[in-house]
Amino acid sequence: MNPNNDFTEADRISPVYCPRCHQPIPRAVSERQRMCDECLAAQDQVQQNALAAQEQARAQVFNADTGVGPCPACSSRNVIQFKEDAGGGNKSTTIATTGVLGCLCFWPVLIVLPVLALMGSKVTVRQCRHCGHRWQV
Ligand SMILES: [Zn+2]
Ligand SMILES: [Zn+2]
Repeated sequence: MNPNNDFTEADRISPVYCPRCHQPIPRAVSERQRMCDECLAAQDQVQQNALAAQEQARAQVFNADTGVGPCPACSSRNVIQFKEDAGGGNKSTTIATTGVLGCLCFWPVLIVLPVLALMGSKVTVRQCRHCGHRWQV
């Protein structure tokens, strides 16, 4: 319970209440920590629990092993691997342009096609689910 000797004359005239449990608390206490000791401890516990849960969730993400290998940035083994276009450009636009060119004149297509094939080649990319780091293998 609140030690009553902390209450001043000002508290008796105009009491300050704890915003959480609505018990009167000494002005000095309310200025220092806003709430009464019990509520402060209870809130700390809630925050600690939330932090612990967050930490646990992070650890779970970190410790998951996808079997691909460790992340070079954070060493987590929760790494996914996928294929991506090496060119990274807008391929459909290139194809459309090639189509138009092909209609206008046939022979440039024979030159453009190998270039397209080169652009369409895939690279293997890995991404860490823990820190988001992304790299090419
Ligand atoms: Zn309280
Ligand atoms: Zn990572």
